Amino acid sequence: MAPVGIMTVNDLRREGKNELTESGIRDADIDSVLILEHVLKADRSYILLNGDRTVDNDSIDAYRSLIEKRKKHIPLQHITGHQEFMGFDFIVNDSVLIPRQDTECLVEEALTEINDGMKVLDLCTGSGCVMISIAGYKNDIDAVGTDISEEALEVAGRNADLNKVYVRFCKGDLYEGLHNINEYETKFDAIVSNPPYIRSDVIPTLMEEVRDHEPLKALDGGTDGLDFYRRIIDGANEHLIPGGCILFEIGYDQAEAVTDLFKKNGYRDIETVKDYSGNDRVVKARRPINMR
Ligand code: GLN
Repeated sequence: MAPVGIMTVNDLRREGKNELTESGIRDADIDSVLILEHVLKADRSYILLNGDRTVDNDSIDAYRSLIEKRKKHIPLQHITGHQEFMGFDFIVNDSVLIPRQDTECLVEEALTEINDGMKVLDLCTGSGCVMISIAGYKNDIDAVGTDISEEALEVAGRNADLNKVYVRFCKGDLYEGLHNINEYETKFDAIVSNPPYIRSDVIPTLMEEVRDHEPLKALDGGTDGLDFYRRIIDGANEHLIPGGCILFEIGYDQAEAVTDLFKKNGYRDIETVKDYSGNDRVVKARRPINMR
């Protein structure tokens, strides 16, 4: 038996899991492992292969204090400070939405519409994960991302540096940000956006991790959740080339409403794409060539 006070990797993992389970954390086991990886600066195979190794006291203290945070429903990614998305590493904090797997669907669709060398605008860029991934997978994208939040843009800039991708980020409400880089007159080849789209009355029902720790500004899409889609489509007349494509991430029940918005504005080739869970996740549409 291990001497009193000695804790092994497995002991800590078990202790963390039990503590998190008691606090009603859904993925207690995996979260305890991820927090342990973070504290020990180790990967999964180290944790699995070295269960009997003793852990030094500083690491035990650090681990326990992070488990305490997670027990308060602070998102795991705010504890580790990172989230993987499209194979890239993204820094996150409470100023940006944590990149979701759902949003990879938007990027994958965008990569089928966007060619090397295009001018691409990402509205409500947040952590920058959408624009940085697109620019990272294509060549010579003239990439611009706008956001109303200065704090979010600070994170986005660090993420572009971290992933060695060049994006011009600018602060402003949707297209207004373009004034700050003298590109307000520019027409882009494609516009992408994962805007806030949750109906205001649904916000109180979100998981504690999301509702209490992620920026509400990045989630609240107004009374019917469609405010940003309307404003982006309206403004696209000035900022999207004829024949250019708009791609939106949407909520699982918004495909019809967003399709109608595109139709009302004369858009063509309107398509809905499902994510890997089988939910409607992206609507894309093309601005007709013969439009003003
Ligand atoms: N899919 C996100 C969530 O469920 C919402 C993202 C958004 O509003 N753009 O929290």
